[in-house]
Amino acid sequence: MSLLVAGKAPATDVSSPLEEARAQLAAAVGVLGYGEGLHKLLGTPRRELTVGIPLRRDDGSTEVLTGYRVQHNFSRGPAKGGVRYAPNVDLDEVRALAMWMTWKCALLDLPYGGAKGGITLDPRNYSKAELERVTRRYTSEILPLIGPERDIPAPDIGTDEQTMAWMMDTYSVASGYTVPAVVTGKPVSVGGSLGRASATSRGVVTVALAALAHRGLKPERTTAAVQGFGKVGAGVARFLAEAGVAVVAVADQYGAVHNSAGLDIPGLEAHTAATGSVVGFAGAEALAEELLELDVDLLVPAAVEGVLNESNAHRIKAEVIVEGANGPTTAAADKVFAAAGKLVVPDILANAGGVVVSYFEWVQGSNAYWWSAAEVEDRLKARMLAAWDGVTATAAERGLSLREAATVTAVQRVAEAHQIRGLYP
Ligand code: GLU
Repeated sequence: MSLLVAGKAPATDVSSPLEEARAQLAAAVGVLGYGEGLHKLLGTPRRELTVGIPLRRDDGSTEVLTGYRVQHNFSRGPAKGGVRYAPNVDLDEVRALAMWMTWKCALLDLPYGGAKGGITLDPRNYSKAELERVTRRYTSEILPLIGPERDIPAPDIGTDEQTMAWMMDTYSVASGYTVPAVVTGKPVSVGGSLGRASATSRGVVTVALAALAHRGLKPERTTAAVQGFGKVGAGVARFLAEAGVAVVAVADQYGAVHNSAGLDIPGLEAHTAATGSVVGFAGAEALAEELLELDVDLLVPAAVEGVLNESNAHRIKAEVIVEGANGPTTAAADKVFAAAGKLVVPDILANAGGVVVSYFEWVQGSNAYWWSAAEVEDRLKARMLAAWDGVTATAAERGLSLREAATVTAVQRVAEAHQIRGLYP
């Protein structure tokens, strides 16, 4: 997954992800008419842990890294959310991402609250053995918080199936027996689910195609640009191309490539697997312009937060924007897009496929009974389309944007769970 994206707009006027997440909550609370106390309760993380992680480097030196785990809310069930390894991870970013997980799980009606974890490090600067030691020590430091009934980590930017296998093993060694359901996004050989690796991308494309249909756009006459060519973006490009969309440009952290006839995505994936980047792909030319500002029908930001902001929003030409990343659009950009009549499918709906199949993995692991890939994909599609239908109906009924409708739906579910349970003591 891209940590940075070539040509990313300067971050000078971008407010932080936490400010953005709080503004989205405040807007939903305004629509729902909740009082100050409930607003505060919904906006405040329930548990936060900051840990120092001593790492013995391969050269024998010692480094101390910082890691976090934030459980934003668990009124509807165990906390759930990924672990991010990136150089810019800090407590506020993890808080924002944890809050978005709460809304995402509630919107998709998963029996979970929201959490997020992270370590401030650039995984590209560490060997596999070092990453294993960091992961195991981080897991052991956050051990009191996590567990299949408490808080279930998963991959995010900079982490993968291998990271989850190490986390599961560390937790299991401490427990004295194997606990597959403590993390999701594991390798299939140790209790992962078929279809989990591609789930976020499949979910993004399921709602992207629904959004195009909503606007009367036919896939075979649609062009798309995808920012990010990692765990989410590569699959998005592939599934869009399979649906007949011409994916004319993709970017990763090293550069961007363009082909106005539509990129050969399997060829590009093979090139990326061999070289580590989309740059230099023979079937395309290097993209000189800003990918986000291309004249395409569909734009999928599938990398990092804040890339669509006040400084570039008025130059965005795509009619439909589907958020593969968490938090790619700032509130200022949302306003510009609304005024321009663009359709923005928000992250908590668009990229929820990952945590939906994480839920399926947890259910399968808890029952030790495994589903076929087709069963996983069918159930994923049904959940994504049900959420899409619910959000578009609420938006139409209440005169809200899709982001407002999605956040209102989710916040209301969490508030109801909280209120029916009551406040202890
Ligand atoms: N990191 C992913 C997300 O942001 C997946 C989380 C999960 O599966 O728990 O949605």
